[in-house]
Amino acid sequence: MESEFLEWLRARLQPHPALRLGPGDDAALVRLADSGTSVVTVDLVSDGVDFDLGSTDPRRIGHKALAINLSDLAAMAARPVAAVVALALPRAGALELAQALYEGLLPLAARYQVAVAGGDTNTWDGPLVIAITALGEPTARGVLRRDGARPGDCLLVTGRLGGSRLGKHLDFEPRVQEALLLHERYDLHAGMDISDGLTLDLSRLCQASGCGAELDLAAIPLDAAADAWARQLGDGSTALEHALADGEDFELLLAADEPTAARLVTEQPLAVPLTRIGRCVAEAGLWGLAGGRREALAARGYLH
Ligand SMILES: [Mg+2]
Repeated sequence: MESEFLEWLRARLQPHPALRLGPGDDAALVRLADSGTSVVTVDLVSDGVDFDLGSTDPRRIGHKALAINLSDLAAMAARPVAAVVALALPRAGALELAQALYEGLLPLAARYQVAVAGGDTNTWDGPLVIAITALGEPTARGVLRRDGARPGDCLLVTGRLGGSRLGKHLDFEPRVQEALLLHERYDLHAGMDISDGLTLDLSRLCQASGCGAELDLAAIPLDAAADAWARQLGDGSTALEHALADGEDFELLLAADEPTAARLVTEQPLAVPLTRIGRCVAEAGLWGLAGGRREALAARGYLH
């Protein structure tokens, strides 16, 4: 099926200024920025773990597979340039499945000017597995890392958190433009994307930065889906618990000094809300503040 698929794909790819040679040869030629540094990330998703092929439109799966990579580039405040896509397809209906995955992936690539530079497609007796490598370039400001937060910094998040399992984990829009805009206009100390859960990812940011954090629990912006998911589970869990630990929100978690955070919250430069949720402290560990009490908070989330 590979040559038939390649023909189908090449007819759908737009010309891209960074793509000197696209799919069809043994390797692609991609022109990256002259800065000498490329930003590279890879993500692997598989049926039964990251999505359920039996109950999900493959176009949504294709979208997700690329979007999680773009979210990682956004987390570094890097500009996406190109992606290579590796598919391991179940034998039955492989061509149709590959086409449907790309029908979900290509509009996202076009929206962020990502050249689909190439990839590999195989069939096997196992489940659908998608591995996408994305290439990006730093802006003139350099990249945004997770190890730059300092005690006293404020913590902020984009958007709303929790309940991603009700659909956002498939259909989210990676915060590429948001990250580029914020990094260009504001002095951010650290940033990452929330892929595995707010508390778990925050604990990673804190560990990298050598600090701890206090979360103002009443300030966590709850997605309506967090409450809907809690009610659907009916297990006594709360919307707040889901916002703290569900993961796959793919929002940005940022650290900035107090004056910058105050400007961000007042100016609200994005189409999605920017919310101050806590601050970094010198003491290692995570704490939740609620009703005048300060309690240790477990770093919960999705462990791979
Ligand atoms: Mg990440």
